[in-house]
Amino acid sequence: MEEKQKTKKTSKISYIIIIIMLIVVAIALYNRFEEKNFNDFVRTEYMLYASQFERDSDVTYFKKDSYKITSTTPNDAMFYKEVKVTPNTPYKVTCMVKTKEVKTQKDVSIGGAHISIADTVEKSKSITGTKDWQKLEFIFNSKARTSVKLGFRLGGYDDNCTGTAWFSDFTIEAGYQAEDTNWKFACFIFTNTDVTLEENGAKKDIKLAMNTSDVADMRQNMARFKTSCQELSKGKMSVDYDVMTIQEPITSLSYDNENGYYVAPENIQDKIQTYIEGENYDHIFVCLRLGDNEHQNDIPVYDWIGLGGMDYLGIGFSNIRLPNSSRSYTYKYNSRINTFPEEVFIHEFLHSLERTAKEYGLERPALHDYAKYGYQEERLEGLKKWYQDYMNQMIKTSSGNIGLDKKVYTLQPNHEDDFIYSYQLNEFKEPNNIIEKIRQIIFKAFDNVTIITKKKEGNNIS
Ligand SMILES: [Zn+2]
Repeated sequence: MEEKQKTKKTSKISYIIIIIMLIVVAIALYNRFEEKNFNDFVRTEYMLYASQFERDSDVTYFKKDSYKITSTTPNDAMFYKEVKVTPNTPYKVTCMVKTKEVKTQKDVSIGGAHISIADTVEKSKSITGTKDWQKLEFIFNSKARTSVKLGFRLGGYDDNCTGTAWFSDFTIEAGYQAEDTNWKFACFIFTNTDVTLEENGAKKDIKLAMNTSDVADMRQNMARFKTSCQELSKGKMSVDYDVMTIQEPITSLSYDNENGYYVAPENIQDKIQTYIEGENYDHIFVCLRLGDNEHQNDIPVYDWIGLGGMDYLGIGFSNIRLPNSSRSYTYKYNSRINTFPEEVFIHEFLHSLERTAKEYGLERPALHDYAKYGYQEERLEGLKKWYQDYMNQMIKTSSGNIGLDKKVYTLQPNHEDDFIYSYQLNEFKEPNNIIEKIRQIIFKAFDNVTIITKKKEGNNIS
């Protein structure tokens, strides 16, 4: 009798132990799942499995576990969600981000912790170093697209990073594109260039400066540019502008085989960012000197005076280069030599409109195709007639007139004021209750890391 009771007791205890063990295992499995649970996000890396993707319950911005990327070796790592978008609509994506020892691989870089659209160069500003929680904001336009892959990234489309980034509190809202044809330009005149270039293993220091007459020419051309844009477009657009003269020298340059040296956004972002923030600029001109005739060591530039088609955080970005010869009339008005000295500014801005038209799927002949349509450079005013017809769809062809669609003048980069009447989307909603969680656990593929494909586009047209 006594024995029997004991056995019963023992089996009851072992039953309880088994249940407890099962619960412990379930909790462990669940915690393991939660640690790796990136919800609907797809993880993607340049070097597969070189970075760790984890959920972090210790470092959090609000109640939910943060999304953590750690790269101990330089990598480009991101988690993204493919989001359906309505074409021609501005969107604003935000998140909170915290960083620890984030370092870019290149000395001069636009990489770091940021928001981006996978497979494009569209991105928010980047955070590097060790920084506490802050809000990141990324504004983009869907243009001709019906879906985009919105990514939260530690790295960059042309760079890698080491360090740790925590992301949290993702939001997305849709706004309304204002029908605005007044374009706001920022013209930065960098009066000094002070760079060290490497040539055949040897380093050479190059110091160049503009004189007051150079600066006056640039200022005068901006004034002429304002008038010319309005006149040449026959009132389809107008221009406001600010000129900022920066004494602090340009200390780094970018290089490509086609153009030689030039200034990319990453070369001067730390010098122009404070001027740009909150100003809603639609286009940026950077005026610079890359050589002068009295100088022994010119910076190699392959035959360009202006360079465009680039963008800085969604804003059109062009280089305006001063000629090496002080006797050049390229940027000087003279009734017998040059009556259209603002031509380079017009040309580079039109490259940005050409790129915009392409991205929105609008008609646009190539800006360099003037000869094909019977236009030629004229002695006093260069290609002014071509630009005027280009801007007004008045280029005659056998199948009717062509040129820039006038809609392009309303397609300015999106700014904060396009979100005054906005609506939130639910794309980044995380599961809130146990039923949603269980549903997700059942339906979610566990380990879905993919490889990032690098893509550069739209850059550098002279
Ligand atoms: Zn060009």
